[in-house]
Amino acid sequence: MIYLDYSATTPISYDVLDTYNKVSKEFIGNANSLHSLGLKSANLLESATKQIADIFGVNASEIIYTSGATEANNMALIGTALANHKKGKHIIVSKLEHPSIYVICDYLKSIGFEISYVKNDNEGLIDFDDLKKLVRNDTILVSICAVNSELGIRQPLKMIRQIIKKENMGTIIHSDMTQAIGKIPVNFHDVDLASMSAHKIFGPKGIGFLYKSSMIKINPLIYGSGKTNELNPGTPPLPLIASLSKACRLATEELEKKERFITLLNDKIVNTVSKYPNILINKTKYSIPQILNISLMKIQPETFLHALEKKEVYVSTNTACSSGEVSNSVIAVYNDIPRAKHTIRISLSSVTTTDEVNKFLTIFNEVYNSLSELKGEK
Ligand code: PMP
Repeated sequence: MIYLDYSATTPISYDVLDTYNKVSKEFIGNANSLHSLGLKSANLLESATKQIADIFGVNASEIIYTSGATEANNMALIGTALANHKKGKHIIVSKLEHPSIYVICDYLKSIGFEISYVKNDNEGLIDFDDLKKLVRNDTILVSICAVNSELGIRQPLKMIRQIIKKENMGTIIHSDMTQAIGKIPVNFHDVDLASMSAHKIFGPKGIGFLYKSSMIKINPLIYGSGKTNELNPGTPPLPLIASLSKACRLATEELEKKERFITLLNDKIVNTVSKYPNILINKTKYSIPQILNISLMKIQPETFLHALEKKEVYVSTNTACSSGEVSNSVIAVYNDIPRAKHTIRISLSSVTTTDEVNKFLTIFNEVYNSLSELKGEK
């Protein structure tokens, strides 16, 4: 099998799974219980959270566990909207967000919030002048993803923060960092809120967190008991949290070394597939090497994906969360509907090998030629 869909999800690493199993067996107490088993769990919860907070240079109280990035995005956007609606109802998002952000925005619009979409240039970079113009006195929130999930475009969050705060100090900044963490260095201090998900960094599915700066207030979406965190009450899922903590540690080690290696793999694929007729490479100077998007202009991407699958090669069409739809990100960058309808996303990771890439390219060649022949294009 050649798995090249790491941006959709990653397999849990053996080390992380080991942590999950150990904690499940050895820490049976509820971290909210008063007895010694509860205390033992509470201590582990505290140290796991402190490890995450230390990795990202923030305070432990600023980490709010969620089931993943979708929940973190909901908590960030709706929680901010509910806490700040008296100050204003204006929210700005980019055109390169994950589908979950747009669905949340549609909901917020339905309850009276106004959503503006900031422009980007033809390399995918946020248009700073447009952003500056859009920020108003009643802008309560700007949400811009750190790395786009389809084209891998990264945004300069520090600069974006400066522009927004200069226009309105009170505007809260959220970034969906799901595709950034474990791939590139991130700085939570560039934003007030950041979302992430463990299953993108070789952690378990079903856990993630929202970073919330202690300087801002958001409303809870979930009400309940449990003293751990008012924004996420209930029994903390300790095996998942300890695994998340370990996954964060492993994923953020040797980032540059991993990125250098993945760049070589990305270059190899780009150099080969760009020679094919009717293939466009959807890559700009801001694309990170872990995410490679191409458009097969004369082949249906689903047909290609399933033909690869028959040979045990796994890729995505656009993102796993919007499979089968037109790629919003390709529209935002290239403004080309046919190109946006024909995307394939190949996503690489630090465990991808050169051998896998070589085999992938051989299989790609076979599948591309046979599907082109079927269509009489050869
Ligand atoms: N945001 C981004 C940028 C993503 O790539 C994803 C996963 N496709 C999500 C949010 C949703 O994450 P989760 O599956 O953890 O809810």
